[in-house]
Amino acid sequence: MSQNAAEYTNHVCPVCRAEHPRILGEGTLAECRQCEFVYARKIPDLDVLKQRQAAHPRNHCGDFHSQRRLARRFKYWAFSKVIQCCCRKQPVIHTLQLGCNEGLFLEAVEQNRRFRSTGLDWREKPVEYALTHGYDAHLTDLKTLDYPDDSFDFVFGLRAPVLLHNPEQLMLELVRILKPGGFLFTVMPGGSRQRPPESDPQQLWAFTPKTLSRFAERFELRTLRTLSFFRRGEVGLLARKGEAVDVASIPRWMGPEFGNPTSSRAA
Ligand SMILES: [Zn+2]
Repeated sequence: MSQNAAEYTNHVCPVCRAEHPRILGEGTLAECRQCEFVYARKIPDLDVLKQRQAAHPRNHCGDFHSQRRLARRFKYWAFSKVIQCCCRKQPVIHTLQLGCNEGLFLEAVEQNRRFRSTGLDWREKPVEYALTHGYDAHLTDLKTLDYPDDSFDFVFGLRAPVLLHNPEQLMLELVRILKPGGFLFTVMPGGSRQRPPESDPQQLWAFTPKTLSRFAERFELRTLRTLSFFRRGEVGLLARKGEAVDVASIPRWMGPEFGNPTSSRAA
């Protein structure tokens, strides 16, 4: 599936499709009156998002230094145990990591024969680093995920996907490539009282555990657990795909191909 990367406007709430949100701050953000999801109405095109992210020092688009610190290695080792616990019935576990960076998770499971693990990242230097160490890493901006349907047992991104141009498109792709009964662990941008979304003019989405769980339901993902990372202003979700999901029948209403419903009705 290809993703349209052009700029677009959210005319309805991405979570519940309600119209007429409350306008926040300077007017760039909206809060749904039905489900309380906070979202930007105007979404820039993907290249603009990439330029913004590349300017962020955390993204290593300039000089790249490996982050192989013990704490991070432990985190990935511990996470591999969570995956094995979820997928305890599978003899072989196919995983996909969104934002694999230099391949620390791939390294953590390298010696474990149950894992077949792939990583994706949009930053060249960390991917180059992972490839030189022999890991299965690929450069992509998440516009398309070139995998057949039902490919993975466990898909995860341990940080907010930075290029979240269209969360609906991303979720549709993730559900498509997950096997029936497969698991998704994702971290999405949130907000906190100390750092409300309207204080950051670049923030496009602000999930809460409740709205993220409700958003996942749209894609027939059943929430097993939600987590709040208040200090980082992020929300985590562990969810499971149903056994018989028809991705083509999931309604979609986000992206440049959807015009203003009110004005098209008037016309
Ligand atoms: Zn809503």
